Amino acid sequence: MNDKENNKEIIARKVNEVLPNLECPMCHNRHFTILDGYLVFPVPDDYKTPFFQAQKSMPAIAVICTKCGFISQHALGILGLLYKDKQEETKKQEGQENKAATEDSAN
Ligand SMILES: [Zn+2]
Repeated sequence: MNDKENNKEIIARKVNEVLPNLECPMCHNRHFTILDGYLVFPVPDDYKTPFFQAQKSMPAIAVICTKCGFISQHALGILGLLYKDKQEETKKQEGQENKAATEDSAN
C-alpha cells in the first residue's frame, strides 16, 4: 500500500468514525467513494479580496455518492487530519531539545 492509498484509508476510517450512518441526502444511497485528491478553498480575510490573492486556504476532502454523484465536502482540520505529520515532527524535535537540555545540565 503506497502513501496515497494509505492516506485514503485513514480518511475513509475517519469519515466512517464521525459519520457511521452516512446516507446520501439526495438519493438515500449508502455507498460512497472518496475523491482521489484534495480540495483547497481560498480563504480571503475580507470579501473585497479576490480569491486568488487569499493568504490562507482550507483543505478538504470530498465524499461522493456512488449512485447520484452528490458531493459532500469535509474540512481536514475538523476531521483531525491536518498537519498531523507536522505536529508529530514538532513533538519529536521538542523531545530531542529537552533531552539535549537535560544532558547539558548534567555536565
Ligand atoms: Zn446519492
